[in-house]
Amino acid sequence: MNERVALVSGGSRGIGAAIVQRLAEDGFDVAFCHRSSPEAAREVEKRALESGVRVMSRQADVTDPDAVAELLKAVREELGPIGTVVTSAGIVRDKPLAMMGGDDWRQVLDVNLHGTYNVCRAAVFDMIKRRVGTVITLSSAAGVQGNAMQTNYAASKAGIIGFTRSLAKEVGRYGIRANAVAPGFIETGMTAELPGPVREQALARIPLGRMGQPEEVADLVAFLASDRAAYVTGAVFQIDGGILG
Ligand code: NAD
Repeated sequence: MNERVALVSGGSRGIGAAIVQRLAEDGFDVAFCHRSSPEAAREVEKRALESGVRVMSRQADVTDPDAVAELLKAVREELGPIGTVVTSAGIVRDKPLAMMGGDDWRQVLDVNLHGTYNVCRAAVFDMIKRRVGTVITLSSAAGVQGNAMQTNYAASKAGIIGFTRSLAKEVGRYGIRANAVAPGFIETGMTAELPGPVREQALARIPLGRMGQPEEVADLVAFLASDRAAYVTGAVFQIDGGILG
């Protein structure tokens, strides 16, 4: 059965923060990292602590494998073996490809895809040794279907799908599950940066006629993290108000 310590990357705001809160409400001890928002992290930590579980947050850049290794060491020392990993840290740098410099390309791939690799790589060996674990990665509707101005982001999120499905095939024999969640437009700081007309166009494409809430994504992640999903692995779950059809 799943162990009750969860690590969430990118937990200081948006979807990651909602996942921290939901897992804490479900009785998980939760650790999370963020890039550079100690005040926001403290607020998330304070609220999650109200569920009576142990909560810790650390500043750690997921693109830095040493920082990630330090993070996991600290989590194991403070909370115990990590049974659930959720990789939510992510960024966008939207531009048409013709204007996309190498930095915009590399930064997005670095945080979203290599960051996912760094966190999962650091967690999975211990899971294999203990024959238990659940990995949940954050992909995106853009990674399934593509999105104009997001060649970098879509490539990183499609990469996460290939990564997750491959990991599921590799570690299933050890009792470890890996699934990806592919949200559409969710109301967070990330989508607040969208220009008005882009937002309007996005809304017009959503059959349910509204953006999703971070808590709705967190509900799906909580299901995947639970033993109710014991037979679910290698899957990609769209949560997008019907945008992908
Ligand atoms: P957000 O911008 O609100 O929050 C991102 C979080 O990631 C923050 O906690 C930030 O500190 C952290 N982060 C960023 N770079 C980091 C780094 N290098 N190291 C460590 N932490 C880092 O984003 P969000 O909207 O909550 O998105 C969360 C995840 O869901 C992302 O992977 C995103 O791509 C994905 N997603 C979001 C949407 C959406 O509509 N918001 C849609 C599809 C997928």
